Amino acid sequence: MKLVLAIYPGSFDPVTNGHLDLIERGAKLFDRLVVAVLQNLEKDPLFTVPERVEMLREVTRPWANVEVDVFGGLLVEYARHRNAQVLLRGIRAISDYEYELQMALMNRKMEPRIETVFMMPSETYSYLSSRLVREIARLGGPLHGLVPQIVEERIRAKVT
Ligand code: ADP
Repeated sequence: MKLVLAIYPGSFDPVTNGHLDLIERGAKLFDRLVVAVLQNLEKDPLFTVPERVEMLREVTRPWANVEVDVFGGLLVEYARHRNAQVLLRGIRAISDYEYELQMALMNRKMEPRIETVFMMPSETYSYLSSRLVREIARLGGPLHGLVPQIVEERIRAKVT
């Protein structure tokens, strides 16, 4: 039987409980799941890429079939290089749909052998984004329940 490798790409600045919800679902469905941190030149990141990777490794330790990696450049090229068959993306609300659909179709045009699979998180996380977490963090607001505890601690250490 063919083993299915899926890639879950994103910025993960920082990893949230919404991301973890998707990772848990993906780890159940696919044989292997690679959480791939995009190395891009964001204007105002909260955490460096190595910091994000370190936190992701720590919080994904319970899943033996989950790996954390870093990639740059075209996602489909990275997926080809990893021999992945699936790209995993999360859809929180209708507002995510248009952008995600456009990306999925463009990726399919570039690499028809790779399928994008969308998953919905638990509704508890449907309003949660890393961008909001960064804003709350910078304003010193409460993050409990939105991010894993180690991320909460790292944020507290960074902003105080
Ligand atoms: P964000 O969109 O929160 O800034 P990323 O760029 O790291 O985060 O997102 C990576 C992937 O994770 C995207 O497919 C995004 O839709 C998905 N995602 C982000 N937050 C959630 C969430 N709360 N629930 C489900 N999926 C999510």
